Amino acid sequence: MIIGIGNDILDISRVDTKLERRILTQWEKEKKNISQEYLAGRFALKESYFKALYTGFSGNSFQDISFLNREDGSIYLAHHRYVSSKIGIYNFAHASLSHDKFAYATVILEKVYGKVFIGLGSNLGDRKENIETALRRLEAISHIVRVSEIIETEPYGKTDQPSFLNCVVEIDTNLTPDELLENLLNIEKEMGRVRLEKWGPRVIDLDILFYGNLVIRNERLTIPHYDFEKRIFFVKPMNEIAPDFVHPISLRSMNYLLYELNQ
Ligand code: ATP
Ligand code: CA
Ligand code: CA
Repeated sequence: MIIGIGNDILDISRVDTKLERRILTQWEKEKKNISQEYLAGRFALKESYFKALYTGFSGNSFQDISFLNREDGSIYLAHHRYVSSKIGIYNFAHASLSHDKFAYATVILEKVYGKVFIGLGSNLGDRKENIETALRRLEAISHIVRVSEIIETEPYGKTDQPSFLNCVVEIDTNLTPDELLENLLNIEKEMGRVRLEKWGPRVIDLDILFYGNLVIRNERLTIPHYDFEKRIFFVKPMNEIAPDFVHPISLRSMNYLLYELNQ
């Protein structure tokens, strides 16, 4: 269901380049030549986003979000702070921009059933029981849509440890990304996970792989998972339960990513 739409139009020649510091985030500034047109475009996109939230500008900042370009030039929204719309939470965002004498932008926010994917892993204790316990805990905080097969995988990164059982689950949730992370960290803690070393053995690991097509980048959270396409124990189960789902930045389907990993 579409829960928000916003658009904005701006006369490019009237945009003051002094606004650059206020409007652009560090990621948006990485672009080489920041033209008046570029600035007008980002301004129009951000205004459109605030309109789509129906919250107005109050409480929001131009620094909360970046509009970045994919390799093919299309635009995606990256959240540095996720705020839900006045209507509710959203898990898909779409953006479009055109220029002539004017910059014209549109942003659409959507809540799609399911499409939030969590990767589970365990390599300590009764691994199967741990995965099953975690699934029951997930069921208590969300609605479970699909669960992949459980597969056994060799340890990744730090290889001198027992092998893992992994699976991926699709959930439908009304928790924001931050609330979801908090809940997952809680489940890990309650199940007895202790973090002793990076990539060390663990009773249970719960990673948010995708939250619809949203891109989230801040100190606590990176979504999609930063290393997703390199890990067969994410890509294979994802492909089993959602082969047509596309990575929101590369726009590659799970089917394609699995094919690439197997090359
Ligand atoms: P990796 O992230 O490489 O798979 P890991 O799962 O062992 O390693 P953890 O120790 O479980 O890493 O997580 C450390 C922190 O990562 C968490 O406290 C959380 O704040 C942060 N984090 C960032 N993005 C995510 C995400 N998408 N899902 C879960 N945690 C995330
Ligand atoms: Ca992990
Ligand atoms: Ca983790």
